Amino acid sequence: MRIDGKFLRSRVARRIATLFLVAALLPTSLLAFLTYRDVSRVTLEQQQDELVGASRAYGMALYSRLLFVRTVLENMAKKGEREWLLNADVPIFRSLEHIDAGQAQQWKRAMADSAGRDPALMVHGGGPAKAADIMMAAAMPHRRGNLLAAHVNPRYLWGASEDVDAAYNICIYSKGVQLHCAYPDETGSDDDKLRGEWELSLDPSFGIAPWKVVAVRRFPPRRAHSDFFNLYLAVAGCGVLLIMLLSLIQIRRTMGPLERLIDGTRRIAAGNYDDIRTDSRDEFGDLASAVNAMSARIRRQLSTLQTLSAIDRDMREQLDLPHLIAKIGDAMRQIVPDADLYVLRYAGNERENDRLFVQHGAGTPARENAAPAPSREADMLVQHPLGLLDAAPPSFLPAAFAHNWRIALLWRGRVCGILCLAWNDARALNEETMAELAELANRIAVAIQIEEREQRLLYQARFDSLTGLMNRHGLEERIAHIESGNVPAAVLFVDIDRFKHVNDNFGHRIGDLLLQAIAARLREFAECDTVGRLGGDEFILLLSGASNPTRVTSSASSLMALLTRPFDISGEQFTVTCSIGIALHPAQGADGLTLIERADIAMYRAKQTGRNNFRFYDERMTVENHARLALEFDLRQALGTHEFVLHYQPRVDLKTGHIVGSEALLRWNHGSRGMIAPAHFIGIAEETGLIVPIGTWVLRSACAQQAAWRRDGVAASVVAVNVSTRQFGEPDFVETVAATLAETGLPAECLELELTESMIMDDVEEAILILGRLRALGVKLSIDDFGTGYSSLAYLKRFPISALKIDQSFVRDIVDDQDDRLIVASIIGLAHNLQLKVVAEGVEDVAQLSYLAQQNCDEIQGYHFSPPVTALEFFRMAAARQRLEWPLPDSSVLQTERR
Ligand code: C2E
Ligand code: MG
Ligand code: MG
Repeated sequence: MRIDGKFLRSRVARRIATLFLVAALLPTSLLAFLTYRDVSRVTLEQQQDELVGASRAYGMALYSRLLFVRTVLENMAKKGEREWLLNADVPIFRSLEHIDAGQAQQWKRAMADSAGRDPALMVHGGGPAKAADIMMAAAMPHRRGNLLAAHVNPRYLWGASEDVDAAYNICIYSKGVQLHCAYPDETGSDDDKLRGEWELSLDPSFGIAPWKVVAVRRFPPRRAHSDFFNLYLAVAGCGVLLIMLLSLIQIRRTMGPLERLIDGTRRIAAGNYDDIRTDSRDEFGDLASAVNAMSARIRRQLSTLQTLSAIDRDMREQLDLPHLIAKIGDAMRQIVPDADLYVLRYAGNERENDRLFVQHGAGTPARENAAPAPSREADMLVQHPLGLLDAAPPSFLPAAFAHNWRIALLWRGRVCGILCLAWNDARALNEETMAELAELANRIAVAIQIEEREQRLLYQARFDSLTGLMNRHGLEERIAHIESGNVPAAVLFVDIDRFKHVNDNFGHRIGDLLLQAIAARLREFAECDTVGRLGGDEFILLLSGASNPTRVTSSASSLMALLTRPFDISGEQFTVTCSIGIALHPAQGADGLTLIERADIAMYRAKQTGRNNFRFYDERMTVENHARLALEFDLRQALGTHEFVLHYQPRVDLKTGHIVGSEALLRWNHGSRGMIAPAHFIGIAEETGLIVPIGTWVLRSACAQQAAWRRDGVAASVVAVNVSTRQFGEPDFVETVAATLAETGLPAECLELELTESMIMDDVEEAILILGRLRALGVKLSIDDFGTGYSSLAYLKRFPISALKIDQSFVRDIVDDQDDRLIVASIIGLAHNLQLKVVAEGVEDVAQLSYLAQQNCDEIQGYHFSPPVTALEFFRMAAARQRLEWPLPDSSVLQTERR
């Protein structure tokens, strides 16, 4: 096994290696230390013993030599001969001396030791520098008192140096004095600790103090223990090395897979899910397998998540269900390879419209077919949120598969389809994989819902929910389509006349039914052309290819005729008329918005010109329309900016010539355009509903003014206020009048409300009720512009009115026109028959005046007496009791008239 140091870069590896090293070194070093100590001690003891042995051996030899010297000396003393010495091989004595008795005593004393005994031996001198002289004496038996003294030969006594082991230096001490040393020069050796001592007892034999034999090593001893120790170190070192080697091998075995695992985990964290390869069959192998399994799972789940997010993106950007199903099928095949995908999509309650999407194999498109009938299963699948594995195959699965898994496509608890995967190999699904498949299937349910909702929204965006006709958006798209094809077309803006009355009188439900019936009739009329509803009672007919105005005219006429045929709604007969505005493409507009807008303007004009007719759009209409819009804008501000003002036109009693009342007439003092007459804005105020607040203001101002005049003693007993249709239709109109009277303190009989025929004839019963309530307040009521509308005489009798105001159009030509004269006369006659007062409007000259007087008209109003004047001026006229001079000699100057 090759060990490179790379793995030691790992901290764990270094830590383990250090631990191993410490574990190996610690006992080894301790053992080495203890062993070294013991071996050194034993070696030292051994050397010590050796030295003691050497000193003993030498001491014993010395003693035997001393005994021998004594024996020889004693023998010589006996014999007294000198030849002994000469003949001897070894010169035992260096010299001999005969000591006589006298000297002997002295000599003995010198030799005597502390014990007081006669010594046979005498040491003389000695010390570190010089060897001692050894003297021995023996009594000479045949010469009494004499001694034979000998100077013992040191060479003999101490022995030849070669006789002694050269390894030792042996020295002899007596009483601490060195007598001899084999190697005197080496006596100062440092190694004095290691010495062997032996004591030679000389007292019994020679009567002197013992000698100490000291053996000292000359050379350092061979250090057997250091050899041992070196060997031990070598062995221990090898042991440590071996331990280290083995530990490194083991660390490498551990760290290798560990590093691969760490690498692998890092790769997984970085998004690389390749398997971690390891040959370990131990726990590391198990761990690697577990990590690999986990990484495979993460990879699959991630891929599922990526697919889901890609699918979500697709759904957000553009929803294409077959494409999406194919994509989800591919994702499912990563979990169940080679499976076929079947998606049955429910079409609401219309089972016959169910669709079946099939995808065989990855990467292939999902084909859409009509679902084989019957395909729908019982909704028991709903109870299996993870799907149903290997249940009996659903009926829409055409081929026989070994396995199938299917799940209900649910959206908010409603089944919108079924998804089925079918395959043949033996792959089993577990809960986890089924959950992943279910998550993917869920996306199809979402997609189906989104598609359905889109279709629904698309329908709602283009079609009107009430009639099923196209709405404005749909129409504009259709017109844009016509425009792109550059096809001529006519846009007919159809508005049902007075449709509001149907709603008001019969309720919205009937109104809606009528609108549906009208829509059906329009659809029937249009055939291949487009019909739409803009809202309310406004319809659009788009005649494609109609470039010829004659053809369009005939179409409009036929349409009007068709709509006038009665409608039967819930047993009630309805007859409607319509007003039609026509705009032509491309002459009068390119885009849908413009065409519809212009047709609308034309329709408005048709309405203005009496309804139940049609008008083609004309450029001038737009100009007028713009002016009208500008006026409408200003009108909305006028109340706030106090631009309205009331003028009062006197009403004169024909019999007395006195001012008996006035009519309040509205003026708009426009900031930039000056005084504007009501004819120019009352219509707009009516249409926009602004007439209601304006009318309330008029009522309050007129009442307040009349109350003020009354307080100032003005004789005019009544003020007449014009009421608009819109105002009259307000549910709280009567309450408003009552409140105004109360607020201004004007007695009710001083107020006259001018109503029009059409206003009360639209809904006679309702009108009679309202009029009755007004009358009950005490307010007077008159019918303005009488003769221009369609008053039914039968009803007239039932209205609680007090006066009729003959329209000025009859008065104008009263002098020249026989018919007008007759009409005026009949109106006056009729009114008087009904006990009603008659007021003639627009009386401009004496001729008119005289005819009216002749016909017994009660009151007149007109420029002849006075035009409408300011409140102040009216006050002056009334205060001056200005009166109509009648009969007048000259009709030209009656009043300060400003025409
Ligand atoms: P009207 O109620 O029939 O009022 C009479 C109109 O005839 C007034 O026109 C008046 O100035 C005009 N007039 C009076 N004497 C003569 C005359 O001798 N010769 C001619 N040619 N005209 C005469 P004005 O003020 O322009 O009002 C027009 C209409 O506007 C009124 O007709 C009335 O229907 C409406 N109107 C006026 N003020 C109000 C108002 O406050 N509320 C409502 N709803 N309508 C009003
Ligand atoms: Mg009037
Ligand atoms: Mg009038």
